[in-house]
Amino acid sequence: MSSKLGRRAFLGAGAAATAIAVGGLKSQSAQAQFPWFRNRGQVVNLYSSRHYDTDEQLYDGFRQATGIRVNVVEAEADQLIERIRSEGQNSPADLLMTVDAGRLWRAEQEGLFQAVNSSVLTGAIPDHLRHPDGQWFGLTQRARVLMYHKDRVNPSELSSYEDLVDPKWRGRILTRSSTNIYSQSLVGSLIAAHGSEETETWARGLVANLARDPQGGDTDQIRAVAAGLGDVAISNTYYLARLIKSDNAADRAVAEAIGVFFPNQNDRGTHVNISGAGVLRSAPNAAAAIQFLEYLVSPEAQRIFAESNNEYPVVEGVAIDSVVASFGEFRADPLNAAVFGRNNPEALRITDRAGWK
Ligand code: FE
Repeated sequence: MSSKLGRRAFLGAGAAATAIAVGGLKSQSAQAQFPWFRNRGQVVNLYSSRHYDTDEQLYDGFRQATGIRVNVVEAEADQLIERIRSEGQNSPADLLMTVDAGRLWRAEQEGLFQAVNSSVLTGAIPDHLRHPDGQWFGLTQRARVLMYHKDRVNPSELSSYEDLVDPKWRGRILTRSSTNIYSQSLVGSLIAAHGSEETETWARGLVANLARDPQGGDTDQIRAVAAGLGDVAISNTYYLARLIKSDNAADRAVAEAIGVFFPNQNDRGTHVNISGAGVLRSAPNAAAAIQFLEYLVSPEAQRIFAESNNEYPVVEGVAIDSVVASFGEFRADPLNAAVFGRNNPEALRITDRAGWK
C-alpha cells in the first residue's frame, strides 16, 4: 500500500498517472462510468485493406468508448498477409481486416489467426458470416448482383447466375477478370452448389457469352453496360451506390441507366461476400483487439461501417443506407464464407481451364 501511495505521489497530479496508480483502489462505479480511463495508453494495431475515410470515425468512436487507440496500416490484403508472415512473432499487428472472405481464408491457411471466443461476436453475427472456430468475423456484407440496362433488358428475362450461360445472352455479359477475388468467390459458391464439373461447364458458357475480354473493375462493367458495350454486368451492389451518390453528373447518368437484379431468389439466394477481420496469433494486444471487434458489431458502429462503403450490416435490425435500401430486399445465399474461401484454389483452376481471363 505504501509503495502505491509513494508512486502516486511520484507521478504527480496528472489525471492519467493518478488513474494508473490508484486504479485498484477506485470504486467500480467510477471505472464503469469511465472505462476509457482504465484503458488509457492501450492500443490496437490494425492491418487493413479497407481504405475509406469514414473508418476514421470508428477508430475515434472506439477510442472515446474505451480509451484504446487504433493504429492503422493500410495496404492490399496480400501485401499485409506477406508482411505479417515476415514479421513473424515480432509482428506488432493485432488484427487483419480484408474486404473478401477469400483473403481471410488465405490468412487462415497461413496459420495467422487465433480462435476467438466472444459471446458478443457470436451473438451479433449470423453463423454463416463468421468462421466456425472464431478465426475471423464478417463485419459487413456485399451482394454480387446482376446489373442490367433498363432499356435493353427486362428484369423478367433474368433469373440466376446459372442462366447467364443461356445462348440468349451471347455477347451481352460483362464481368471483371477471374484473377479478381470477387470472381473467384462467386465461382467458389457455384462449386459448393453444383460441384466442380458443372461449374466448369458454367464458366465455359459464361466466357462464350461475354461482350468483351474481362477488363477493369466492377464500376467499369457498369459503365460498359450504360455505354452499350453489353447488357448485363456482374457487380457488387456498392459500386452502383457510389455512382448514384457521385458529385459527377456523368456518373449519375450512368447509374440512371442501370437496374439491379438479385439473382437466385428462387433457390439458394444471391452470393454475398464479407468484409471481415480476425485476431492474429501473434497479437500483442489480443484482448484490446477483441474489444475493438465487439465495438464494430455495436449498432452505431455497424451503421457507420456499412454506410462507409454502401454495404449491408451483418447485425440484424441495423438501418440500411437509403440508396442501398432502394435496391430492394433480397435473399442471401447462407453458404458460410469459409466454404467459398476453401474452394478458392479449385475456382482458380476452373476459371483457368475455362479460359476466363
Ligand atoms: Fe470492391
